[in-house]
Amino acid sequence: MNIKSWIEIPAGSDFPIENLPFGIGRNRGGQFAAYTRIGDTAVNLSALDGLGVFAGMEFDFSVAFRQPVLNDFIAMGKAAHRVLRNALQAFFAAGSKPDAILMESLTEKVLFPAASVEMLMPVKVTDYTDFYSSIEHATNVGKMFRDPANALLPNWRHLPVGYHGRASSIVVSGTEIRRPRGQTLPAGADAPVFGPGKMLDFELEMAFVVGRSTNLGEPVAAADAEDYIFGFLLFNDLSARDIQSWEYVPLGPFLSKNFGSVVSPWIVTLEALEPFRVKGPEQEPAVLPYLRTEGLRNFDISLEVLIRPENGAENVVCRSNFRHMYWNICQQLAHHTVNGCNITTGDLYASGTISGPEPGSYGSMLELTWRGANPIRLSDGTERKFVNDHDTVIIRGYAAKDGLRIGFGECTTKILPALT
Ligand code: MN
Repeated sequence: MNIKSWIEIPAGSDFPIENLPFGIGRNRGGQFAAYTRIGDTAVNLSALDGLGVFAGMEFDFSVAFRQPVLNDFIAMGKAAHRVLRNALQAFFAAGSKPDAILMESLTEKVLFPAASVEMLMPVKVTDYTDFYSSIEHATNVGKMFRDPANALLPNWRHLPVGYHGRASSIVVSGTEIRRPRGQTLPAGADAPVFGPGKMLDFELEMAFVVGRSTNLGEPVAAADAEDYIFGFLLFNDLSARDIQSWEYVPLGPFLSKNFGSVVSPWIVTLEALEPFRVKGPEQEPAVLPYLRTEGLRNFDISLEVLIRPENGAENVVCRSNFRHMYWNICQQLAHHTVNGCNITTGDLYASGTISGPEPGSYGSMLELTWRGANPIRLSDGTERKFVNDHDTVIIRGYAAKDGLRIGFGECTTKILPALT
């Protein structure tokens, strides 16, 4: 099923020629540009365009490829992205190896070892919303903090619950995040204290990037929602649980969430994920008409979270799958805009923590350790109730079917000690 390329693609790579994700890279010379990736090779799209490879096409990418973020490129629209994808697959296909002269220019200006290119934040995040769309996650949290017998609140099966988050603190994989300080209410105390959060957690999520803007007052119908979605990223919604439980009533999470969230550097397009569509869970009771969707609107994407202590080994702490989401992306976008709320190219919509049905598939330490009651033992013998200082949290994700693997690479962040 795989298309062969004249660029070497290692077995098990996240980046065959069917993937062609988009990101912003900076080479050793300090120049940023739009990149794609094939195997372990980062492809400078601006330099490739400069060699005339896209000459005569109906779209001119030259300006969009030279921007410090992908927003302008994304805004060019799906027709342009399709033309580019076809052109790249044709150019890099095994049968069309360039002649020696062109190959020399490519080696010098276009093709770089991926490890030598620094990946930057791929988009200017214009707005950020976080949903709460995993029924397993919402049920686990409801059991822990409310009523085990009535874990889901009455609205949960009727609308995709979400909140408006903070765009300014969303950073690219590799960025270190400092443990936040804030107010917490110690158990049994009647007044809050100030200091470093003691219950720092990850949330395993995916996020989609909006590819088309709307005007205020114009809802997006569920059936049209995918026309407004460019692609997906891995997303770590870092959360300070002790700060959260004190602050969140009545308006929801605030400083427990906005001290840093991390995205993977490559945006994988909806088109690349096409072969991995699956049906979502049965929704009961039936949803209101504006939330009804037809066809396969979930995606079978295997996800894992690892914790790596400083100078230590990686420990898998969670294995989950994006296919578990109760509310799909079309329902999320339809609900978000049904009141007339406008959306913008570059908006980020995160799924909410992606927990599966089994304990090992829960997407946060809160659930995995059941609020610290069942610590996880790492390979070095230490235990974790939550994430420690100097730990690195790594999210990986890929879809695989019939010999084709489309992956996202990594979303990593190291936790630094709080300010003193
Ligand atoms: Mn979240």
